[in-house]
Amino acid sequence: MPFSTDVRLPRDVEPVFPDACCACGAAAPGNTVAIKGRRVRWSELFWPWLWFFGKRIVVAVPVCAACQPRLRSSRRWQTVILLASVAVAIPILFPLAKSFGFGWRTTKAIGAVLTLVAVLPVVLWQMLHPPVFDITVGKDHVDYEFASSDYALRFRAANPAASEREP
Ligand SMILES: [Zn+2]
Repeated sequence: MPFSTDVRLPRDVEPVFPDACCACGAAAPGNTVAIKGRRVRWSELFWPWLWFFGKRIVVAVPVCAACQPRLRSSRRWQTVILLASVAVAIPILFPLAKSFGFGWRTTKAIGAVLTLVAVLPVVLWQMLHPPVFDITVGKDHVDYEFASSDYALRFRAANPAASEREP
């Protein structure tokens, strides 16, 4: 099961993590890693300054000393790779969209769609290789995404507020 297993909690609920490493499952891991998440909107592709107004959420994820670097790096690299592919795609695809000769608004829309299509393989690849743990912040909920479905089930059991959303 390559995709991550997601557990959704209301945004104002503090998540309760099982006392186990979220990467290898070892009991009483003793360390935590702060994972930051924020609400990402596609509109930020058009208005990048919206990025600064996104609401941030920080969760402390239990992890053992051995897995700590893995948890930090897997997520960071995915962000870097995704941002890099967007950064490469935009200067290639927006002039292409411009060459169709439409007005600026249509050109912007075509450029955005082309960029989304171009980075789709990267997004799919990342979905098939999820980081150990990630969060996605929604309007009034937070999705806690675990590579380990086993750990996700334990997390869901520890949080009565979790919605019964089967992955
Ligand atoms: Zn571990």
